[in-house]
Amino acid sequence: MAHIEAASPHTMNTYGRLPIALERGQGVRVWDVNGKEYLDALAGIAVNTLGHNHPKLVPALQDQVAKLIHVSNYYHVPNAEKLAAKLVELSGMTNVFFCSTGLEANEAALKLARKYGHDKGITHPKIVVYEKAFHGRSIATLSATGNTKIQQGFGPLVEGFVRVPVNDIESLKAATAGDKDVVAVFFETIQGEGGVNPMSLEYLQQVRALCDERDWLMMIDEVQCGMGRTGKWFAHQWAGIHADVMPLAKGLGSGVPIGAVVAGPKAAHIFQPGNHGTTFGGNPLAMRAGVETIRIMEEDGLLDNAARVGAHLQAGLGRALAGVAGVKEIRGRGLMVGVELDRPCGALTQICCDNGLLISVTADSVIRLLPALIMTPAEADELVERLAPLVKQFLAG
Ligand SMILES: *Cc1c(COP(=O)(O)O)cnc(C)c1O
Repeated sequence: MAHIEAASPHTMNTYGRLPIALERGQGVRVWDVNGKEYLDALAGIAVNTLGHNHPKLVPALQDQVAKLIHVSNYYHVPNAEKLAAKLVELSGMTNVFFCSTGLEANEAALKLARKYGHDKGITHPKIVVYEKAFHGRSIATLSATGNTKIQQGFGPLVEGFVRVPVNDIESLKAATAGDKDVVAVFFETIQGEGGVNPMSLEYLQQVRALCDERDWLMMIDEVQCGMGRTGKWFAHQWAGIHADVMPLAKGLGSGVPIGAVVAGPKAAHIFQPGNHGTTFGGNPLAMRAGVETIRIMEEDGLLDNAARVGAHLQAGLGRALAGVAGVKEIRGRGLMVGVELDRPCGALTQICCDNGLLISVTADSVIRLLPALIMTPAEADELVERLAPLVKQFLAG
């Protein structure tokens, strides 16, 4: 048995890691270095859209690695145009900027909003953000995040944010009443790290109307809930609305680091040469991963699968946990599912891991399931059959 050290001697102490090391995967299953099998209901935090070792993705990436991995943005990358065109088609928006991570996509969105203000003569632009939001760990995205625990120790934070509660249009109106400096509203359609908290479809429509009325940018962080996870390409599409700015990352490259900011007509031409850029953004490997991920999702009907298997999973959890004291709510959309308990349950990640199940717990008391979009109904049943007894035992103990 390979022994896994609790603390790493040379990597920084930034993560509370479980004491396992994974070696290989196939579909929604992974195996650790000791050969133990796990059902993966986390998918690298909503990253491995196509699961592990996908038979269509792997040969495409192998082909790309042998051709070009990186060239810099001094040159055109044909697959960047191809991926941008696809994202434009799927979103109904117009232009894309590529980067490599979620926080980078959000950072670009925040810069877009500020320049949108400056271009209108607003020299101290303000952006509306939300309680319990998570937008990343850079100083600006951390400032936009609504979690004082993870902001602790990193002040002074970036100014220019107005914070409001979710799903409360009157609070948004009151917090911005008469304020000519507001330029944008920035939020996740379904808050991920904050505990799988969906914005209601009615609220999304109300915010869209307010953004139109006040000439604000509607900036929707779809880094976690986007790319088909909820059964539509982008979760806000359930409300029948368009965003003006939409950061993406996580699932877009099915495991290869990639981020993107998709912009509609109001925001597509704000950046001019010299305003923004990044070395790795849009490189040939990442772009190929994005192009192939979307192609495979379309070929294999994975949006539909996410919607169907997600509903099946939620229904199964509902039956298995019905009447269990301590289970407060099961919520989410498609394959983004949260089970809120009435108490902190971080210990469940280790308990599940010991029992061959990979999950996460977020916002202290919410079990979060984000499996690959290839999950079958039978695999969802297995997930329920394995998870529910562990939750019951935990609550009873
Ligand atoms: C994960 C996440 C981010 C940050 O992405 P990184 O790639 O970790 O920088 C931002 N917003 C949301 C909604 C996320 O879930």
